[in-house]
Amino acid sequence: MRTTQRITIEQIQTAADLLIDGKLVAFPTETVYGLGADALNPQAVAKIFEAKGRPSDNPLIAHIASLEQLKQLAREASPLAKILMERFWPGPLTLVMDKVADLSDALTAGLDTVAVRMPEDPIALDLIRRVGRPIVAPSANRSGRPSATTWESVLIDLDGRIDGVLCGPPTRIGLESTVVDTTTGEPLILRHGAITQEMIERVWSSCRSSSSHLGPISGSNGPTPAEVPLDFGRRSPGTRHRHYQPKARVVLFDSIDQLGKLSGAVAILGIAPKGDIPAIESDLSEKFPGAKLCVCGSLDDYAGRLFEFFRECDSENVAAIFCQRVERSGLGRAVMDRLDRASG
Ligand code: AMP
Ligand code: MG
Repeated sequence: MRTTQRITIEQIQTAADLLIDGKLVAFPTETVYGLGADALNPQAVAKIFEAKGRPSDNPLIAHIASLEQLKQLAREASPLAKILMERFWPGPLTLVMDKVADLSDALTAGLDTVAVRMPEDPIALDLIRRVGRPIVAPSANRSGRPSATTWESVLIDLDGRIDGVLCGPPTRIGLESTVVDTTTGEPLILRHGAITQEMIERVWSSCRSSSSHLGPISGSNGPTPAEVPLDFGRRSPGTRHRHYQPKARVVLFDSIDQLGKLSGAVAILGIAPKGDIPAIESDLSEKFPGAKLCVCGSLDDYAGRLFEFFRECDSENVAAIFCQRVERSGLGRAVMDRLDRASG
């Protein structure tokens, strides 16, 4: 056990100094809180796997604050990578690119590619600039658990296991970045996020997408098996592992009328037009007395609250969380990906 320093935004240089010193510090980004370490220090990178309990075959994303820093990680960007960077960086998009020769195997899990992102969150950018080197930052949670979108949630999983947490605001998006493989000439989405497939298709007409869900894919808009390349597991190693799971059982449903009799400690996470929420909530609390309720007014709201709701349910010992499915388009693909894996 070590003491985890709570670091205020005003003390951001303390966080930078710890990272320069090879220590682990969690910090906010626009997606979720990341667990940072110096990407070019193999010992520091190794500590991340230990603190998170992360399988060593799941590579990390390196975060940069300038295109200059990209040269320390990736070989020359392909035309596709250049277009995606110009359009979406800084932002919640991670690009898988051919790596430079001397990167540590711990960072890339021995692959010949590296995943890189330039975040847009001003605190994250400031921190990376102060360190002056790329920072690896997987989600700041114990492996397999829902990602942390507040610094308090980071501490629930990692207090005593990391050196510091930079105590910023809750994250804006609440889901991890979109991951796109740019090494084969056409974009292949390995993980859905807030930069949607539709947004990528607007800048590059052909775009393949692979749901990272391992089991059968429900819903009419899911990918067909033909869309999922055979070597997908090798190319996106993180997708082989359990992910995003609260302690409670997660059960998916389409509409509220489908919810039959619910017993025990349950929670319901739904989505409805903003104006209908008060009526729906009073209906639900009458039908399911004692159930913990969260009805979101938009897809953005649903994405932003999902992981925190899972964590609240865990702290209140909820046994089952009933989550409403959303349409698999736009940000809905990212939401459904997390729900599929949480319930799988
Ligand atoms: P996390 O940082 O926990 O949000 O997870 C990072 C994600 O990026 C995982 O799904 C990894 O499998 C994926 N990833 C990282 N590096 C690579 C790479 N070189 N090739 C393919 N996927 C990668
Ligand atoms: Mg993660």
